[in-house]
Amino acid sequence: MAVQSLYRRYRPRRFDELKGQEHVVRALRNAVKSHREGQAYLFSGPRGTGKTSTARILAKVLNCEDPQDGEPCGICNSCGSIDSGNSYDVLELDAASNNGVENMRDLIERAALGSPGRHRVFILDEVHMLSKPAEAALLKTLEEPPPHVVFVLATTDPQKVSETIRSRTQHLQFHLLPMAELEEHVRFVVADAGLKVSEDAIQHVLAQGGGSARDTLSALELVAAAGGDVEQGVSTDEFVESIVERDPARAVRAVASAVAKGADPRTLTESVVAHLRDCFLSQMAPDLVQLPDRRADVVAEQAARLPLAQAVRSIEVLGEMLVEMRHSPDPRVLLEVAMIALTRESAAAAGDVAALEARVARLESSRDQSGPIARTPAPVDPKTGRAQLGGRARPPAAATSSAGPLTEDQVVARWSEVLAELKPIARATMSTVKPVECANGSLVVAAPNDATASRVAEHIPALAEVLARRVGRPIEVQCEVDSRRAAAGQPSAPSSAAPRAPQHVDAGAGTGDDDTGRIPNDQIGEVIPPENPIENLRKAFPGSEVVDAP
Ligand SMILES: [Zn+2]
Repeated sequence: MAVQSLYRRYRPRRFDELKGQEHVVRALRNAVKSHREGQAYLFSGPRGTGKTSTARILAKVLNCEDPQDGEPCGICNSCGSIDSGNSYDVLELDAASNNGVENMRDLIERAALGSPGRHRVFILDEVHMLSKPAEAALLKTLEEPPPHVVFVLATTDPQKVSETIRSRTQHLQFHLLPMAELEEHVRFVVADAGLKVSEDAIQHVLAQGGGSARDTLSALELVAAAGGDVEQGVSTDEFVESIVERDPARAVRAVASAVAKGADPRTLTESVVAHLRDCFLSQMAPDLVQLPDRRADVVAEQAARLPLAQAVRSIEVLGEMLVEMRHSPDPRVLLEVAMIALTRESAAAAGDVAALEARVARLESSRDQSGPIARTPAPVDPKTGRAQLGGRARPPAAATSSAGPLTEDQVVARWSEVLAELKPIARATMSTVKPVECANGSLVVAAPNDATASRVAEHIPALAEVLARRVGRPIEVQCEVDSRRAAAGQPSAPSSAAPRAPQHVDAGAGTGDDDTGRIPNDQIGEVIPPENPIENLRKAFPGSEVVDAP
């Protein structure tokens, strides 16, 4: 088949065919040319960025009968057998499935049996998965490697590779490809392989691949096999547009249409979360958006119309829903309910989310594979109140620097200042309620449902402490359950001194839109109680780490 295994067919066979890893290529070619190649390398980087291909090219050039300028000739017997995958000079071991000490001993024995005059390259993939005894055995060999053996340890997760291994290897970092370079490569492959794929399909596969050459070519293969077009495919644009336009009917139609095209509700939800995350990044840190230019422009335009608070809230709710879906016999209904909730909510319902945004920014930066795990909060730009990415973390002084005394009637208006003084978990939890009124030594906050109110309760002492300090007198905090008030966020006088208003309020009253099939807010609140926002964020960004601020 013409479209079979594009990745294998177009896998780089020379250093100069490697895309986007110029620094790695330069280091290895120079080492080879001057016969100063290392005996142990650590190649780290996301999947599909060329780590194994690079190790093979290194094996080729070290054994090539006629190397030229640090490149293999590609035609001699040795090059040919490595290219076809049946050379004894290249040995690949997946440490994820061969992580025991026996596997390692076996490998080391084979390494000792060198063939004279030849370089053998041992590729150990996912080396961070090795068991401790296996790692110890490997370390011993790395201390005194047999001559003519080169170890290439590859990993997608260099943080998990022990410091001792790192210290005995030359560490070369592979990066996701710049979109422009990947796009050029895809167009070359399309032309060279004579594939018929539409312009939309090219943009689609680039977005799917997310900067990984292998994933992009796999996506291209699927699209080409399906006829070269993605017009019939499922787009998440309608989902995001329905949230932007606050149009529940449009959201329900989007779900129906996607499911009719065969989309799995879970995968669909993941895609919508990924899309929303791109919207969020497009506002907060555009350089982290991994999308082809044309697509990035579309997302940036959507992001400009989607308040950050709403983006964060949507990621939270859908992330939570993904967890629920695992146990649900009908995940489609859950997706519909979540989409309806998100399209009905006002931006204010998301509460004061400056704290959440800062937190997401930190979660984001801690996911950056190439950097160290962020342990301090991202600095906040005092002008925008948004977290700055990429800068050096400073102590979280921004919030307290503006802390002057407050009068009682300023508490509601300057709620964000009060929140800013809470520790992150208390701050995030308190941002799910709305301040209603502060007078006569008492602050009333409104929670959308009982679940939120009970979570908030444990942070009330911390809030009261901040209030007492800022206002200069003890303030009693009362949390009442009132979904309408919590959603509207309108400061108004409490209807009575009762700490808890009736839970069921007619949220649809006065909007005159019952014919759209909207679900009243209070019912939504019962189906999907907003869980701890931090938990939600953690679920929405798998692999992230919750780091509490001092
Ligand atoms: Zn050769």
